[in-house]
Amino acid sequence: MNLSHTYLALPSQLYRTCPPTAVSAPALLAYNAAFGNDLGLDEHWARSQEGIDFFAGNANRDTYASIASAYSGFQFGQYNPQLGDGRALLLGELVTGDGTAHEIQLKGAGPTPYSRGGDGRSALGPVIREYLMSEAMHSLGVPTTRALMALRTGDTVIRDRLQPGGILVRTAPSHIRFGSFQFAAARHDEEALHALLDLAFTRHYPLVTAELRTPQNLLKRVTEATAHLIAKWMSIGFIHGVMNTDNMSIGGLTLDYGPCAFQDAFSWQRVFSSIDTGGRYRYAQQPNIGLWNLARLAEALLPIWPGNESEKIAQAEAILHTFKPTFEHQRNALFAAKLGLRNDDTVFQTTIEPLLNFLEEYSLDFTLSFAHLEALSKGDVERLHLVQSALEEHEKLESFWHEGSFEQTQWQHNVTNPLVIPRNHQIEAAIKSAEQGDNQDTLRLITLYTSKSAQQTLTADDIRGPEPGEWIGRTFCGT
Ligand code: AMP
Ligand code: MG
Repeated sequence: MNLSHTYLALPSQLYRTCPPTAVSAPALLAYNAAFGNDLGLDEHWARSQEGIDFFAGNANRDTYASIASAYSGFQFGQYNPQLGDGRALLLGELVTGDGTAHEIQLKGAGPTPYSRGGDGRSALGPVIREYLMSEAMHSLGVPTTRALMALRTGDTVIRDRLQPGGILVRTAPSHIRFGSFQFAAARHDEEALHALLDLAFTRHYPLVTAELRTPQNLLKRVTEATAHLIAKWMSIGFIHGVMNTDNMSIGGLTLDYGPCAFQDAFSWQRVFSSIDTGGRYRYAQQPNIGLWNLARLAEALLPIWPGNESEKIAQAEAILHTFKPTFEHQRNALFAAKLGLRNDDTVFQTTIEPLLNFLEEYSLDFTLSFAHLEALSKGDVERLHLVQSALEEHEKLESFWHEGSFEQTQWQHNVTNPLVIPRNHQIEAAIKSAEQGDNQDTLRLITLYTSKSAQQTLTADDIRGPEPGEWIGRTFCGT
């Protein structure tokens, strides 16, 4: 594979070179052929033993010019000065015909200088979870890292129990995090900050011309992108789970799928992460945390921000103040469109919030409730029957909606509420059977979540929420 290595040309304090560590018996679990084709990869090679060995880290060590990047991060509010890719390796970037760079990263390919006592490996479960989640998010139109391949390693990893190991091959324009800037800022390293700034613009905001590539403009762009991203998460009921600054993408992508999940029975305070005991990253809190994280990014940019101390702080604060209105405007527009309502400054308070409170009160499924109201309003009988077969308490929702007699004037043709989301109980069942050696359930879910044609012929089982015995209230980091 013909890779370029931009990160290797950055100041050397930002990374350490590190080849992957070979595994016992690499085998393909899933390959994203459509995306691979977009990247110009030869599918035959990618699926061959040579391709699998390459992505598993089993090719000759000289084949790799891979690096682990350094970063810091605020983890649950506590600053950790020395994180870095502990189980991820950047192989380099593939540059497609239009000049776009796609970094190829292996997750779970062995220890790195930043592993801090961890094994640098990943269990198969989190690999499957991230593959399914990220590709479903992409299909739902949410900015995200992508999944190219999932591999079995043939080795066992030790977690709360022994588990089969896996490797995820993922891509992004860059994997730079807010924490990458924090790492450089904490060391007063202006050279490194400038290098990260340039690369962030090149990869994520390439239309910004050279003279405008300033810290101010980066903060502006990232603030806007993050506000849009979190509004989108909220509009589909997604909970990231671990919004530490080391998991926040400088390009406003959903990054590092750990204990994340979609809401089923709606709750403002829903948390899925088993380590988030205080509910810091609960659903309703995500915009506030996004802003808090942006303030940490702003601090990290100050050493290379021109002007005196009070001027630059005032400028940074003015940019941070744009987060809330940008987020709210975007969130309101997305939710109004989900219900065919006119978008104005009041729609969230007058209609959306009461609806969400109602869903919470009666434990109604977030995704199906919106799909139901859409089918009802549009008179789409076929869809209505399908949703009703999966949403037991739909009559309650119907009465609530009729009583409100909302003025629906603005159904946008391109807006439909998703029926299919990656549901925890489905993913857990697929992981269980993959752990027993069977890939079929995982492959079926990939198709269900990503194929528009598969989504034309849905059954109630594809879209329903969990039965009581299937409810999974906590997901795990899998680290
Ligand atoms: P996360 O919670 O997945 O964002 O990870 C936080 C930090 O722990 C990052 O620096 C990871 O690279 C590191 N880490 C997570 N799992 C492992 C592992 N199995 N081995 C080494 N480092 C890890
Ligand atoms: Mg992480």
